[in-house]
Amino acid sequence: MFEVDKAENLVNKLFGDCIFYANRELKRLKNKELKIDFNVSLKVNQVNACAKKNTNGEYEVEVEFVAINKIFDTINNLLYNEGFYRLVAFEDKFNNEDAVKYLDYLFQATIKILLFHELGHIFHGHIDFLMDKNVNSGELCLYEYENTETEMSDLILQQAFEWQADDFSVTMLVGQLTYDDNVKAVNEILKSKEHSLFLIMVSATILFTLMGMSNEYRYSINYDYKEKKHLPARFRVNKFVETSFLAYEHFNKDKIDVDYNKVLQAMQVVEEWVNGYLNISEECGKYDIKNNSKDLDKEHFKYYDMVDSYYTKEMKAILKKYSYYPLS
Ligand SMILES: [Zn+2]
Repeated sequence: MFEVDKAENLVNKLFGDCIFYANRELKRLKNKELKIDFNVSLKVNQVNACAKKNTNGEYEVEVEFVAINKIFDTINNLLYNEGFYRLVAFEDKFNNEDAVKYLDYLFQATIKILLFHELGHIFHGHIDFLMDKNVNSGELCLYEYENTETEMSDLILQQAFEWQADDFSVTMLVGQLTYDDNVKAVNEILKSKEHSLFLIMVSATILFTLMGMSNEYRYSINYDYKEKKHLPARFRVNKFVETSFLAYEHFNKDKIDVDYNKVLQAMQVVEEWVNGYLNISEECGKYDIKNNSKDLDKEHFKYYDMVDSYYTKEMKAILKKYSYYPLS
């Protein structure tokens, strides 16, 4: 458990890495840099982060203090589960010194997924677009509060925004963490670049599960993914894995020799372990992978395909005026 100051310092440093990396690409493409503030917030008791423009007209990313602690505690706890340790360490024998290093690596990767996602909203112009249209005060948050109606009439556009922010996050993180020098820098625990890629996917699964991916309440009878701005997390994990593979092949100019379906199965096991931790730490039994098993059925896939086609075709024109990054 961190103190607020310590959490702020730690995540502020990671934010510095993320903004540097995102700006470096923007500088290369458009000879431009964005200034974005960061702060830790104590507003709600949820795993949440937001991107917005503050009253001074400056971009800002905010992460809830609770999110930082919950991510740290969960990973710390998971590493003492032998199965989880074997899965992430690619080794059979538990080693306490290495476990500490894995904790550090997975914690940083998970926080960066959160930060890069929020930066994706800023760099792709979502915040400016929403402010221009007077929607949600231009603020976009990771966590979707129950019973909150989105003010935006065009939900597909908002779902596509989230999709694009996830893609931005995956691409940035895979580019950064599978870069040769960065892999070598942690070679006491990383066996290969693919190992690093795998840990990124584990981190994403931990984050999405902590955000309520398998929560019974979120999948109750009244739950309709079409009315939510985020597509179901079970689907986001699958997409995250798919995009990780593509990003890896793009950056490393290399075909990846890992079985996609096996990775997805491993992610479901990670989800179950996080559920187990949540059920114990929250003293409830409401987290179960069965709650979201329908998210990947045929009917849902048809809907995702529609959002995907919108994302690749129409959103580009809508964001042309706002996005700092070229839209590929
Ligand atoms: Zn978002």
